[in-house]
Amino acid sequence: MKDFVYNGQPSRVVFGPGSLAHLEREIDLLGAKRALVLSTPDQAAQAQMVADRLGSRAAGIFPRAVMHVPMETVREAREVAQRLGADCAIAIGGGSTTGLGKAIALDSGLPILAIPTTYAGSEMTPIYGITEAGLKKTGKDPRVLPRTVIYDPELTLTLPVAMSVTSGMNAIAHAAEGLYAQDSNPVMDLMAEEGIRAIAQALPAIRLRPDDVSARGDALYGAWLCGSVLGNVGMALHHKLCHTLGGSFNLPHAEVHTVVLPQAMAFNAAAAPEAMRRIERALGTTGRASAAAGLFDLALDNGAPVALKDIGMREADLDQAADIAVSNPYWNPRPFGVAQRTDIRELLQRAYEGIRPV
Ligand code: NAD
Repeated sequence: MKDFVYNGQPSRVVFGPGSLAHLEREIDLLGAKRALVLSTPDQAAQAQMVADRLGSRAAGIFPRAVMHVPMETVREAREVAQRLGADCAIAIGGGSTTGLGKAIALDSGLPILAIPTTYAGSEMTPIYGITEAGLKKTGKDPRVLPRTVIYDPELTLTLPVAMSVTSGMNAIAHAAEGLYAQDSNPVMDLMAEEGIRAIAQALPAIRLRPDDVSARGDALYGAWLCGSVLGNVGMALHHKLCHTLGGSFNLPHAEVHTVVLPQAMAFNAAAAPEAMRRIERALGTTGRASAAAGLFDLALDNGAPVALKDIGMREADLDQAADIAVSNPYWNPRPFGVAQRTDIRELLQRAYEGIRPV
């Protein structure tokens, strides 16, 4: 057993089909009397449904969350929260909505109750991101960690299959990198392996029957575990590449994770054999396919994109992407600084073309 440091994160998780029924109890436990409900425009009806449930304990809804948490939206939401005298924010939706809740909490300290409806995992992390003047600034602050998270699989039945698969791969990416994190610990390793297993088993079932509550529950359970890993240990090459491609080339978040993950795992395979062994065990491919190939197959078999060229990347931009990625590298089990630029450029080419790793 190696040395480790483990930091428990103080959030309360309420899980199960129909668990939205506990919302009033959870709001009471937070001591809140006037909750502002946040969502994207697409999910405004769900936000209204939550507000209706709360009756006089709802201060109002703010259904204007958008991708990348633009500062203008944050300012507007903070003003609305203040004007309505909100003492709590409820974020119902995916990472973009949770992200808006976090931006409000960062400024005001308002407690956040998150009701995730994708598998992105933001609700389990103290990490926030706000975009101002085209630059996304990220940071870590314990105030933004949602105090309570209600995971109700019934609320995920409407998540389209394509988004379910890429969102699930996004969650798996947190766990996969957590398994070789420099600051990993045995508890996070257990959660990571179990999270990958739960999602890898759930995705094919969801693809067959998107309204399968049991499979949806498995995926959301996996998302919780994978999100917890993201919130507790450091990320590496894969997340660096995704931030580069998403941030500088505006590629869609979950799809980028889906395409890059197998290639990043292939790059790191020899440097992190124990992590690969655990990923293979979680995917059920031990002895049949490597972690990298298993993840590639999981995406491909479930209809997700496996090539950057299919999600809007231009081949002409690969050189610049490699330059950005190596200019300010994260810790990674296999170093990827300027000296490894050729290897990273090659990885990106493989991701661009969608070549199955061995
Ligand atoms: P998203 O929140 O942008 O949602 C995408 C779309 O799906 C939205 O229109 C949303 O309304 C819709 N949607 C969500 N749930 C639905 C459902 N059940 N049924 C129908 N439609 C639904 O996407 P995401 O992938 O959840 O989040 C991505 C964002 O989250 C990125 O900006 C990423 O950087 C951020 N993120 C942050 C962290 C963190 O720790 N800070 C972690 C993961 C992701």
